[in-house]
Amino acid sequence: MAKYRGPVCKLCRREGEKLFLKGSRCLTPKCAFDRRAYAPGQHGKSSQFRRKRESDYNRQLRAKQKARRIYSIYERQFRRYYEVSLRRRGLTGLNLLQILESRLDNVIYRLGYADSRSHARLLVTHGHFAVNGRRTDVPSMLLSPGDVVSVREGSQKRQYFKDLAAAAEDATVLPWLSRDLKKLAGTVIRLPERSEIDGNLQEQLIVEYYSR
Ligand code: SF4
Repeated sequence: MAKYRGPVCKLCRREGEKLFLKGSRCLTPKCAFDRRAYAPGQHGKSSQFRRKRESDYNRQLRAKQKARRIYSIYERQFRRYYEVSLRRRGLTGLNLLQILESRLDNVIYRLGYADSRSHARLLVTHGHFAVNGRRTDVPSMLLSPGDVVSVREGSQKRQYFKDLAAAAEDATVLPWLSRDLKKLAGTVIRLPERSEIDGNLQEQLIVEYYSR
């Protein structure tokens, strides 16, 4: 599937809920979903009043698309994550969510070092982060318990990172991560439990979608 380059707010309107893809803007009155909470397009507004019986397939597809959009992942890569999660022990759906959560861009976002996953991805591709002391520019890198993410020494002099410590203080850190604001670093303590991952994701429907 080609990379989506259109306005991301349309994705929220398509899914019928806020996906928080634009960081702090999502919490302001500028949020497009708050202003136009109906599907985009010519018939978007009228379609919300039409009673539609949703098929199982459509519910599964929407659940999969929503997760893919939240984490901004291509279809091919998302399917690959599903295949990996199938091979792991335990619940496939939870395994899939844990894989998504352990991506480097997501961990940086969860640590409060970026205000959205897309922002985190940008910072990583610009080479501002290191994993276990080694520079990386791969946002899709999967982290394991014990891995340490840090802002590289050269990057810490940048104004954004100087201001970050103060800004990140307000952001709560999930219990599966620990954060060291002085060093601008963070550690993955363990994989997240289901209750520590956004409850709005319907992983069972995603599994059903791929196992059709
Ligand atoms: Fe979605 Fe954020 Fe845009 Fe609102 S501002 S529509 S939550 S991406």
